[in-house]
Amino acid sequence: MTFAVTTIFAQEQKGWKGKFEQLGETLPTPNSYRSSSGAPGVDYWQNRADYVINVDLNDDNQLVTGSETITYHNNSPETLSYLWLQLDQNLLQNQGIKFKTSTNQVKDSVPTRQFAGAVEAFDYDGGYKIKSVKDAGGKALQYTINFTMMRVELPTPMKKGDSYSFSIEWSYTEYDRMKFNERGGYEFFPEDGNYLYTLAQWYPRMCVFDDYEGWQNKQFLGDGEFTVPFGDFKVRITVPSDHIVGATGWLQNPKDVLTKQQQERFELSRKTFDKQTWIVTEEEARKKEKEKSTRKSTWEFHAKDVRDFAWVSSRKFIWDAMAVKVGDKTPLAQSLYPKEGNPLWGKESTKAIKNTLEVYSSRTFDFPYPTAYSIHTASIGMEYPMICFNYGRPKKDGTYSQRLLEGMVGVIVHEVGHNFFPMIVNSDERQWTWMDEGLNTFLERETTRTRYTDFDVTSGSPKGIANWMRGDKSQMRPVMASSDNQGKSFGPNGYTKPSAALTLLRETIMGPELFDKAFKEYAQRWAFKQPKPADFFRTMEDASATDLDWFWRGWFYTTDNVDVELDEVKWYRVKSTQQNPETKNITAKTGDLSKGGDGGKTVDFSTGPKEFTVVNSTSARETERSSEFRSSLDDNAVRGKIEGKNIYEVSLVNKGGLISPVILEWTYKDGSKEIERLPAEIWRTNEVEVKKVFMKDKEVINVVVDPGLETADVNVGNNVFPKKPSVNKFDQLKKGGN
Ligand SMILES: [Zn+2]
Repeated sequence: MTFAVTTIFAQEQKGWKGKFEQLGETLPTPNSYRSSSGAPGVDYWQNRADYVINVDLNDDNQLVTGSETITYHNNSPETLSYLWLQLDQNLLQNQGIKFKTSTNQVKDSVPTRQFAGAVEAFDYDGGYKIKSVKDAGGKALQYTINFTMMRVELPTPMKKGDSYSFSIEWSYTEYDRMKFNERGGYEFFPEDGNYLYTLAQWYPRMCVFDDYEGWQNKQFLGDGEFTVPFGDFKVRITVPSDHIVGATGWLQNPKDVLTKQQQERFELSRKTFDKQTWIVTEEEARKKEKEKSTRKSTWEFHAKDVRDFAWVSSRKFIWDAMAVKVGDKTPLAQSLYPKEGNPLWGKESTKAIKNTLEVYSSRTFDFPYPTAYSIHTASIGMEYPMICFNYGRPKKDGTYSQRLLEGMVGVIVHEVGHNFFPMIVNSDERQWTWMDEGLNTFLERETTRTRYTDFDVTSGSPKGIANWMRGDKSQMRPVMASSDNQGKSFGPNGYTKPSAALTLLRETIMGPELFDKAFKEYAQRWAFKQPKPADFFRTMEDASATDLDWFWRGWFYTTDNVDVELDEVKWYRVKSTQQNPETKNITAKTGDLSKGGDGGKTVDFSTGPKEFTVVNSTSARETERSSEFRSSLDDNAVRGKIEGKNIYEVSLVNKGGLISPVILEWTYKDGSKEIERLPAEIWRTNEVEVKKVFMKDKEVINVVVDPGLETADVNVGNNVFPKKPSVNKFDQLKKGGN
């Protein structure tokens, strides 16, 4: 509705395009589940799924075999007659939906990768083999598989408050991530003949059923990530006995899987806050690479209130850990990496986890989980609760560039940071990438900015996004478009544009104090819950008394960009010859300009000010109602204060469409500078053109809009006055001599 109204009037109303109107019906109507303040409503509910899983990893043929019991809890007011599960591995089924719907074209030269799928060059039998789906009594349950989704029929519908347990047996062959470029998989190291496994989306998982979407069973197409409910996990992982396993959760049986020395080192690491403790050293890992045990061990991990479970396994792992203090909690930062990650990983990984947990906790809530792992994986960054996979591999001789160091630390901060968004503030990634990636990229940058002060932090800032926002709009989608429909906009819209928007909001629009309070409010309101975009938008306003509807509208619902043109600056002085202020027969009108000049169009600071007259407030249009209104202004006093001052009338044009605060930098004749900040509301009655008058003691020689590149202005060439003369004009001036 709001948009329709906006469009109709856009052609008719000068200076009005509805950009300052409230979002109104663009946002979903608040209800008792999600309140108008952006907080969870009085009747807020969410369903849960608890898992008990046994899984075996065959290191010879990469077969992953599992059996799981899921206990689903229906807290919704609705009765459910079937359940939906996610079979994410089916994404890589031969001729699956990903293959069928990915678009391509023939060019002069095409990489083999593009055709590898078509000719089945990967020779990979992907996807789940479902062996059974049974109820608690062992009776088979009916089910239907639709690509990456599986519907299980309930023998008796689940009413509100009911719980239901059922079990699934399944297997799949783990894939070579170096070929498929997916989130899990394995990397094989031909030099020593060992595998490094990263198990992700490895078990059939419950879909979310909620008040907003019903079942979130939108197919997994590869880009839009995951929407998963919270639950408790008990997972028993059977692997070769010389493997080290890391997982979502806390190891329950160290005595069964660790040597006595490893157990002692592990306990020491939990009490050591100032440096890492190596539980497995590089030397020990190198030795194991050669021995290759044929026995098996079972590692048991438990996790409470997590929305997913991932794990890693390899005999190549070096393992270090360090305790971190956040509030009254002491989570353990742990890193697992092969020797190929050193010396970089031993130096930087665990420290980066610590930095992340500290900075993110200070901006949201104290990290509530017992641990956060960082795992070395070639070429990717991917997040799961308490565990994430991060790239950053030095050259063979152990050297690395500053760029690799910054990339590696950046990805660790980012992926560990995902523990907060979306692992705890559990947004729907399948629909809105920005809700986790954008908020997380923002906090990642805040962490880097404060803990790695020599790193480049342009990416994710307003300055960093300007170049992209200047680009071809036909290729752009709004941030609020669906994750899977973003195309070329996926990266900027998911990550750097929302991060830039939040940076602008914090640094320029709201100020750090108000922003941080509101952002923390959102994080705390929605920790361990499932927020939607409106919950974020509303909370940021609710907690700060800042009307941001224009900001969400412009930055999240459109592809407009910021391009404020400093069209003109006119210089005036008050006429020094005074008329008698008591005179009633004044001929001059308010703002009447003295004669001369060229109408102001090419006024240059070098030509000197124009003069104008300041008349009594009660003598102009106010005389009409002077009988009922008497100005309490002392006209002479005001005039006295204006006289001799330099008065500047600044004309600004909004060329990009996106509403922006205006930052003006005045440079005075004596070389000093002054910054003046005008809130975005300056555009509220005319979104296209505004004029504003400033009074200065000193003479101005130069005015610049957005001197610090805070606003993502895509064209800074028109931000300066006096306008830089074109080459021709400059030449003419030189020749003319005046
Ligand atoms: Zn991310």
